Amino acid sequence: MIIDGHTHIHPHADGWGGRYDASLATLVEALTQGPVQRAVVLPIAPKVSNDFIAESCRRYPDQLIGFASVDPMAATAGIEELERAVGQLKLKGLKLHPRLQGFGRNEYTQLVPLIQRAARLNVPVLIDAFPYGKELFETRAVELINALAEAVPDANLIMAHAGGYQLFEAFLVAKAHRNVFLDISYTLPYFRGSSIETDLGFVIRKMHAQRIIYGSDHPEQPLAAAFTETRVVLERYGLTPKQMDAVLGENLAPLVNGVSL
Ligand SMILES: [Zn+2]
Repeated sequence: MIIDGHTHIHPHADGWGGRYDASLATLVEALTQGPVQRAVVLPIAPKVSNDFIAESCRRYPDQLIGFASVDPMAATAGIEELERAVGQLKLKGLKLHPRLQGFGRNEYTQLVPLIQRAARLNVPVLIDAFPYGKELFETRAVELINALAEAVPDANLIMAHAGGYQLFEAFLVAKAHRNVFLDISYTLPYFRGSSIETDLGFVIRKMHAQRIIYGSDHPEQPLAAAFTETRVVLERYGLTPKQMDAVLGENLAPLVNGVSL
């Protein structure tokens, strides 16, 4: 079972920007075509609601795995929304985005209670870690995840985009913390032709392909095209078939309830 660990949908097809098709129908159509059969769908509060994600998952329970998103700076209200999203809406994880939600390493202490609650609810927390834009040096997401992994060792933290250009720092954070996973979405196509192609192979081999999670970041990198391109690169790394299966779904499956392979 191949799972795409990082996709987005929006109630409006152009809701992720006019250049992309973020409709539910397009994502489901791509999953129906295969070979990627399931996808984690990620909202970002308040841009996409947890209710929309939950409703989409109810329509396509065999294809979609929905995560929640809350405002991590909303303190108790954020924790209550996570409780509702997991308890009532049956969502399977939490997505946070430092750059788009306006927090970073400096807000670490405010985040700890939310991460602790996610751990208690037994859902993973996926945190964007692609340094970008004018906040490049402000959010310090890789450092933030390092601190959270230390403070809440029973929380499973997925570092989205494997740190982007900070790939080696992301790798060392994951090496130091068994509760940190690296989602490799977006970074390969963004840095296509750079040394990151080789560096990612080094990191995956050093991690023995453990805690590495495939994802596309659909619709910015459309699901099927991203998979085709990434598989070509992964095949160059000389992974065993078992390691390839791990990256393409089996490392993620135990983190989200209700996935049976
Ligand atoms: Zn994304």
